[in-house]
Amino acid sequence: MRPENLYPLFAPITALAGVGPRLAPLVEKVAGPHVVDLLWHLPYALIDRRFTPKIADAPAGRIATIEVMVDLHIPSDSARRPYRVRCSDETGEITLVFFHAKRDWLEKLLPVGETRIVSGMIEAFNEGLQITHPDHVVPSDRRAEVMTIEPVYPLTAGLPGKVMVKAVRGAVERTQDLAEWLDPAYLRRQAWPTWREALRQAHAPDGEASLSPMTPARQRLAYDELLSNQLALALVRASLRKLAGRPIVGDGGLRQRIISSLPFSLTGAQSRALAEIDADMALPARMLRLLQGDVGSGKTVVALLAMAAAVETGAQAALMAPTEILARQHLATLEKPAAAAGLRLALLTGRDKGKTRQKILDALAAGQIDILIGTHALFQEEVVFRDLALAVIDEQHRFGVHQRLDLAAKGHAVDMLVMTATPIPRTLMLTAYGDMDVSRLDEKPPGRRPIDTRVLPLARLDQVTEGVGRAIKAGAKVYWICPLVDDSEKLDLAAVTARHGELRELLGPRVGLVHGRMKGPEKDAAMAAFAGDGLDLLVATTVIEVGVNVPEATVMVIEHAERFGLAQLHQLRGRIGRGDKDSTCLLLYGAPLSENAKSRLNILRDSEDGFRIAEEDLKLRGAGELLGTRQSGLPEFRMADLAQHGDLLATARDDARLILETDPELQGARGKALRTLLYLFERDAVVKTLRSG
Ligand code: ADP
Ligand code: MG
Repeated sequence: MRPENLYPLFAPITALAGVGPRLAPLVEKVAGPHVVDLLWHLPYALIDRRFTPKIADAPAGRIATIEVMVDLHIPSDSARRPYRVRCSDETGEITLVFFHAKRDWLEKLLPVGETRIVSGMIEAFNEGLQITHPDHVVPSDRRAEVMTIEPVYPLTAGLPGKVMVKAVRGAVERTQDLAEWLDPAYLRRQAWPTWREALRQAHAPDGEASLSPMTPARQRLAYDELLSNQLALALVRASLRKLAGRPIVGDGGLRQRIISSLPFSLTGAQSRALAEIDADMALPARMLRLLQGDVGSGKTVVALLAMAAAVETGAQAALMAPTEILARQHLATLEKPAAAAGLRLALLTGRDKGKTRQKILDALAAGQIDILIGTHALFQEEVVFRDLALAVIDEQHRFGVHQRLDLAAKGHAVDMLVMTATPIPRTLMLTAYGDMDVSRLDEKPPGRRPIDTRVLPLARLDQVTEGVGRAIKAGAKVYWICPLVDDSEKLDLAAVTARHGELRELLGPRVGLVHGRMKGPEKDAAMAAFAGDGLDLLVATTVIEVGVNVPEATVMVIEHAERFGLAQLHQLRGRIGRGDKDSTCLLLYGAPLSENAKSRLNILRDSEDGFRIAEEDLKLRGAGELLGTRQSGLPEFRMADLAQHGDLLATARDDARLILETDPELQGARGKALRTLLYLFERDAVVKTLRSG
């Protein structure tokens, strides 16, 4: 259970002064739903309000705090003209300007004949000086409140900066001193402040220098975040290891039959990966291995052969995909080679209900299914295997750590093989998987042809559609990708639907549509028609991003390519160039495009190597944004910036390892403090794997 001294931090943000029901959704959008989220919301700039000139000395273009006498209100006489309040001091005059302001409110705020402290940006206007919408107006005795250095926080439309400043201040005030979780010697060496002091300093910058990620306060907070990440991963790993494994050594019979049924021979990389997997499975300890390979590198076959080994020993295997489409596709790909070896496959997704579902579950429990393929439906409690020995998780980054634990709990000694096509640079790898064993498929199957990638402005859309029309006439199949940042974003959805309509008008009825809001069967039907001969062109959102395999597709158009992460674009592009024909990918960008954005797209034009693309992108963008984060499911850090704090990550990994060697159940004094750290960063699921302390 979460320690009591953290309760105030896990109250909803509405518990904070100034955050009412109207603003709460905006604060939640930028920071998060709980008070604690505001602690992690660090300022990126500051406003120095300590400059207090007389009016005559106030320079335009600078933030100033001035004491003025209120002389005269000049209410607005038309909707276009602002409300003005004329003020002065002994050196000159200044006008305060308000658009769409309420008269009684202004009369209360600025009573004629009284002095007020006003703070804001000085502007020159018609010979005179003015401040439009002063940031602060307070009576003279509250001068000290205003004359400060004010942190500036990331905001969203409609959320006033002042509200955020106050809310964060409230959040920091709610913190208590917590027992130190860092190693005392390390803390001394780094000369870092305590957690609470670090928060206080980070939120009260006293100059530009204190906004640097390298200040002691910010490093400390970044380290805390990284340590919680590494410790959580290490604990998951330890708890998986605690569950006994069993040696799995197949006799190779099934595997041999599968291999001889394949129309190709394995690549060197595939054979190497398989040997590494075999060696892991043969050990009595649990396997926890990542199979990393670029799109099209042939991970699925490797998975099948690994699963075959489990079945050879009389046990079962499971293959889990992140989406329905992918689960079905895995079934389709594996059916033929599996049949050649007499393997019994079945599919279970959220769509199977009632009797069909029950039949699958019964067969599974009776051991009449060798390999179960499915979506997260495989996690459900009623899904009981007779003897699950190997779980393969495809495109792992979409699943959370707790799901990994859930699936592992389904068998008495389940080996885990995690497959990912995301070319994760080493630093990021650590944050997503901790120190998992890795096999890399760094060699593509032979015969692949390079993809001709071009970067064009959206303004050339007409030419593009003409070209696409010609390609279709020549027999090509075409993917047309539209960005859909979030399925709930109506605008994007409308854009996709509209594009579908237009292309249908231009190119005829063999133009299909698939997006995340469609019902499962509809999606499948569209995909199937595209894979078969029902459709020539498929307008799609990123639902086709991972794994989908239509070897006949040779053209891909991506609209607003600049809105995607590079790794994501690379994944998308990997859907073409899978057959023996030449392929073309057109990256259309919305103008104007910044130099940086252009360089990013050019990386893609110049390379098809996922790892190189990821490394280059990391250099250009920094880790936080690297993988189109939300879609990638990689952990997003609030305070740590891997481009800056990479060294801290390595230290945190070693620290986590050492902690678990000396106090595996986090029972000692430091261990207990570390539990608090885990709760603070909402790793509750991981703490549950520990004995209560
Ligand atoms: P990934 O899942 O890594 O993106 P897949 O496993 O879907 O890649 O394989 C992509 C395609 O390559 C499939 O059509 C598969 O049959 C084919 N393939 C796999 N291994 C080889 C190989 N060694 N030689 C030729 N083709 C292969
Ligand atoms: Mg795949």
